[in-house]
Amino acid sequence: MTKKNLDFSNTEVAFSNKSDAQLMHTLRLFRLMSNQTLVNSMSGLGLLAVRWKLPFAKMAIRKTIFEQFVGGENLMDAQAAIEHLYKFGALTILDYGAEGKTTEEELNLTMKETIKAVELAASNNSVPAVSTKLTGLADNALLEKLNTREKLSQKEQKDYDKLIFRINEICSRAESLGVSVLIDAEESWMQIAIDEIVMQMMYRYNTDKVVVYNTYQIYRHDKLEQMINDHKLCKSKGVMLGSKIVRGAYMEKERERAIEEKYTSPIHLNKEAVDKDYNLAIKYCVEHYETIGSICATHNIESNLYQAQLIEEKGIPKNHPHLNFCQLYGMSDYITFNLADSGYNVAKYVPYGPIEEVVPYLIRRAKENSSVTGEMGRELKYISKEKKRRGL
Ligand SMILES: Cc1cc2nc3c(=O)[nH]c(=O)nc-3n(C[C@H](O)[C@H](O)[C@H](O)COP(=O)(O)OP(=O)(O)OC[C@H]3O[C@@H](n4cnc5c(N)ncnc54)[C@H](O)[C@@H]3O)c2cc1C
Repeated sequence: MTKKNLDFSNTEVAFSNKSDAQLMHTLRLFRLMSNQTLVNSMSGLGLLAVRWKLPFAKMAIRKTIFEQFVGGENLMDAQAAIEHLYKFGALTILDYGAEGKTTEEELNLTMKETIKAVELAASNNSVPAVSTKLTGLADNALLEKLNTREKLSQKEQKDYDKLIFRINEICSRAESLGVSVLIDAEESWMQIAIDEIVMQMMYRYNTDKVVVYNTYQIYRHDKLEQMINDHKLCKSKGVMLGSKIVRGAYMEKERERAIEEKYTSPIHLNKEAVDKDYNLAIKYCVEHYETIGSICATHNIESNLYQAQLIEEKGIPKNHPHLNFCQLYGMSDYITFNLADSGYNVAKYVPYGPIEEVVPYLIRRAKENSSVTGEMGRELKYISKEKKRRGL
């Protein structure tokens, strides 16, 4: 294994997985996405066009943002992306793109698809984990009701039992096959319910190793403390904590709802406060790596660098299975492939699914990348730098 010093500005390593044509295609796409007005208007139109099954819509989406951010329409298609990433030192976390599901049939389908992903992961060294969303395994309305802790109706209780059955089937299959399950975090009006269910799964399955991971959204001012409390609870029960650490994807929605419904927003007042807690969360997990399996899931250069430095300072092997990094497929290759080149455990979240299913995910990615300030501006800068280096 190579043991180089980390240098995220090394674009030769970062983009060695891309041919000249692919690099130019990516550059054009990120330039297009840096136009905020275009992204905002196209997001709504794109969603409608796919819903109305307009023939050109799917094709246009497939050739642009779908190919950039999604592994394929099914597991078979995703295989090429998995192999490609592995060739360049990055692992894959499979992510079946289902969210906001309501019917029995849809909810059961998400469970079955996720179990298929677990089975594929078990037969593939380059896929250590799958990710899942409880919003694909239960109706959002049920999760919101659970969040209020009000008494459930008989029908709701049955639906809750089915949700527990579905997530348990996924975790139990994963445990028996040696695969991990990462459970995504959602809006705060569903998250109490999700946290409670994920804790149940951790108590059940994280006895010998970290099978189940919860997601801690550090943009919330209460989440660092909750992660530390969860670790203490896990320790008291003799199990390990699985912690995927993110900043959080729903800041605007959270703030708007808090204003509308007149409660204090759960989101930190500013980015500096989030960054401070994010560093503390990483530090806590590295310091307790024997009883916490953690995933530093971010596109922020400083956060990735910080975790890498802590690992090095403490003399922990860079590829210790409890210390991981993760970025989203199609984003921040300069972080992923430079971490891989330096010998750290790094993976990409690789979503897959039919285009209609992944459109909400794609819209989130396009909007995120339309913010040319901060981390996202770096993407464009580094692709341009590599273009220049290759003399294109
Ligand atoms: C592998 C992976 C898995 C993920 N899974 C989830 C998930 O399960 N649930 C989820 O919600 N998100 C998830 N995300 C998305 C993540 O929460 C962030 O939205 C995204 O990664 C951008 O944050 P950053 O740390 O990469 O970059 P940065 O650019 O450093 O941070 C941007 C983020 O900082 C926060 N922020 C920005 N401005 C402010 C402000 N003024 N005040 C307070 N906070 C601010 C917001 O969270 C914003 O998204 C995931 C991301 C990755 C890479």
